[in-house]
Amino acid sequence: MKVPFLDLSAHHQPMREQLDAAIRDVIDSNAFASGPFVAAFEREFAQYCGSDFAVGVGSGTDALWLSLLALGVGPGDEVITVPSTFMATAEAISCCAARPKFVDIDERTYTLDPNLLEAAITPKTKAIIPVHLFGQCADMDPILEIAARRGIPVVEDACQAHGALYKGRKAGAMGVAGCFSFYPGKNLGALGEAGAVVTGDQGLAEKIRILRDHGQHRKYYHSKIGWNARMDGIQGAVLSVKLKHLDVGNVKRHSHALLYDQLLGETLEIITPFEAPYGRHVYHVYAVRVQNRNQVLQAMSDKGIGCAIHYPIPVHLQDAYRFLGCEKGCFPVAETCAEEFLSLPMFPELTHAQIHAVADELKLCISSRRPVSKCLK
Ligand SMILES: *Cc1c(COP(=O)(O)O)cnc(C)c1O
Repeated sequence: MKVPFLDLSAHHQPMREQLDAAIRDVIDSNAFASGPFVAAFEREFAQYCGSDFAVGVGSGTDALWLSLLALGVGPGDEVITVPSTFMATAEAISCCAARPKFVDIDERTYTLDPNLLEAAITPKTKAIIPVHLFGQCADMDPILEIAARRGIPVVEDACQAHGALYKGRKAGAMGVAGCFSFYPGKNLGALGEAGAVVTGDQGLAEKIRILRDHGQHRKYYHSKIGWNARMDGIQGAVLSVKLKHLDVGNVKRHSHALLYDQLLGETLEIITPFEAPYGRHVYHVYAVRVQNRNQVLQAMSDKGIGCAIHYPIPVHLQDAYRFLGCEKGCFPVAETCAEEFLSLPMFPELTHAQIHAVADELKLCISSRRPVSKCLK
């Protein structure tokens, strides 16, 4: 059985008429750049996250960058984050002319290890960005406690964690700002590029609103040098439709993950994801860890099963960040995980038959490799 990694057509099919109607409304009202559809989505999304304000922007990358700019991060500053993330987290720091300072991840949750945080803080540290990788929140209480004691703002990279919970609180609503991506493949995805910052701080929301619109507080009156990072109207309208389906999608992802856990959990060669008791994982990505990952990926793909790697190279080892001088061995947990992570198909519309097929093939691929690993031992 062929199983795609992601099936957006299956996801959109049941809501297709609502999506078409939403797009038609935007065309009929010519509200293409920001405007009332974006404003409506901002209210709905802030409420969904249990926060006061949401500011729609062009992408998750914009959300991170403008949050840091609005917090005053600039040249010579350091911002702490993890190497196990998508490049955008570090890029946003660099685009403020600040320097990313990496902290390794916890081996079970794959998120910022709070035990390593304090040692990474210097007088130059201007923000901390925990990343809720794969849809599970970082262990926020100790992170927030250390940050508060040092007077450093925490910006959550919640780009993979729409609707995830931490001790009853929603991802994105715990730090001074929470950054979301609505890239089409995310748990809440637009039909194009979009992002948002969620915050309880009205002043910060206002700064980000000004920065996303060329620094204008009033049309053609520019109090700051900003950028064009507005959310477009069609994405706002589409996201209002899709937000209503987010919780149902997350519940399905969670139950698919439990089935994968059940089918794969007893195979010693496979490390299944750990859902920390402090919260609720929304499984944007269902990543297992295996040895000889690249061969397993190839074997799965030969069988028609779409797998992926998030991410093959940790950010500190990317060519673009060679200048930071972090070598192999600096962040051992992130590096080991990057070699072993294998993301299996995960989307709400997966069927049980597909999940069984993926699990069966994965176990076959692993067991056919067993003699080799025995030789190595
Ligand atoms: C997707 C993603 C981003 C960037 O979002 P875009 O909308 O693609 O700009 C940032 N951080 C993480 C962890 C992501 O997964």
